[in-house]
Amino acid sequence: MSIINKTATEQLALLQSREITSVALTQAYLDRINQVDPAVGAFLRVESDTALTQAAEVDRKREAGESLGKLAGLPIAIKDILCTQNTPTTCGSKMLENFVPPYNATVVEKLFSADAVILGRTNMDEFAMGSSTENSAYHPTQNPWDTSRIPGGSSGGAAACIAADMAPLSIGTDTGGSIRQPAALCGCVGLKPTYGRVSRYGLIAFASSLDQIGPLARTVEDTALLMEVLAGHDSLDSTSVDTPVPPYSETVHQPLQNLRLGVVEQHFGKGIDPEIEGAVKQAIATYQSLGATIKNLEMPHADYGIATYYIIAPCEASSNLARYDGAHYGYRADQAEVAAELAEDGSDEGPLVRMYRKTRSEGFGSEVQRRIMLGTYALSEGYYDAFYLKALKVRRLIRQDYDNAFEQVDLIIGPVTANPAFVKGEKTSDPMTMYLEDLYTVTANLAGVAGISLPCGLTKNGLPIGLQLQAAAFQEEKLLRAAQMFQHATDFHLRRPELL
Ligand code: GLN
Repeated sequence: MSIINKTATEQLALLQSREITSVALTQAYLDRINQVDPAVGAFLRVESDTALTQAAEVDRKREAGESLGKLAGLPIAIKDILCTQNTPTTCGSKMLENFVPPYNATVVEKLFSADAVILGRTNMDEFAMGSSTENSAYHPTQNPWDTSRIPGGSSGGAAACIAADMAPLSIGTDTGGSIRQPAALCGCVGLKPTYGRVSRYGLIAFASSLDQIGPLARTVEDTALLMEVLAGHDSLDSTSVDTPVPPYSETVHQPLQNLRLGVVEQHFGKGIDPEIEGAVKQAIATYQSLGATIKNLEMPHADYGIATYYIIAPCEASSNLARYDGAHYGYRADQAEVAAELAEDGSDEGPLVRMYRKTRSEGFGSEVQRRIMLGTYALSEGYYDAFYLKALKVRRLIRQDYDNAFEQVDLIIGPVTANPAFVKGEKTSDPMTMYLEDLYTVTANLAGVAGISLPCGLTKNGLPIGLQLQAAAFQEEKLLRAAQMFQHATDFHLRRPELL
């Protein structure tokens, strides 16, 4: 068995007992990336040299008996949306093709202090807008289980690199499902923390009231390990909350007694694939056999989740993305071309305004432009009350549904997606069907609660199926412990795609 088939927790133990070095482990992953990433396309950039230098430094520290962080020597892949000093960060967009941040995101700082080794940056939908990673300005990512299919999105690279054993750990972001949905479609574990649990300082913003950073890994235990490093208050992010971080990696193995699980009727409504419904119901039965009790829940506003999300997220995006105007940083349309255009069409639009316009139409892809238009429209005078304010009110009702639910149960159990991974190109021409991919995930972001996706089966065609558990705010510990109970009783997390 190769070292890369082991879990991060197992690898950490081998590093600590000095049976392997971080350089050897990092090199094994770099070799694997060389071998399979041409077929998968999970990475936008592989940072071999800096990774090996970081790994050698950890090995040196260990040899010298210096104190080491919690992830000492473990390789990790990062979604290309987190600012890293002096390292390009593109957000999957042409707009930031040459952007080199002058500072580190807090989670990147945390990884450095934990002595992790950064392997490279993973592919994503442009500005995290999408559910298939087909909106990346650079290249699509393929699903390692079937390379004719999408890996989910927007953190498609983050999930695919775990599924194809190109990294033991990775970091994604979830605004409406972008950690949980690709984790489900690629058969790995992905956790969307509570809003405020992980600092967003240095995360390139999409929709600031919904965005969260979180871990992806092959097992629940590894997810807990990484979560412990990422979580915590940060004075640089005023929305991060100052509550203690439990030792997730230690408590994850403690089963929960008298676990009460809630099932939402709408989750099994029309449109769900029968194989997914079957696998999720089987998972519910597994929990019952482990002593959990099941309660049917009313969440009357769940049906409005997609409509609400697709007003609020574009509104916030239109405001956040206003900064990309070609004047401050990032892509700028060619001045000579701007002048030539103006001369040709005889417009009295000034060169600066034309430069803004040309920059934004050339630098942003079509989905990002669509969101900006949706958002600006919904925020404009006369429509603001009808769309944005109304959406905020419905968001409050959705939150209320969750509050009521968590008075009766510990966790909500259900599917992550209605369908398994779809074939590339199948939904690109129809944004509405693409938006429906997020049916079961957006409500957690709207309410700010935590959710996890974990493998619970394979379809007849060998495609992964995800199980979603959701918990009240700051109940990640409960979520991880419950997920571990399921993983302990099943072997879905051990199945691997046959890739090369
Ligand atoms: N798929 C959703 C969207 O396109 C969610 C994206 C995300 O969570 N970043 O907005």
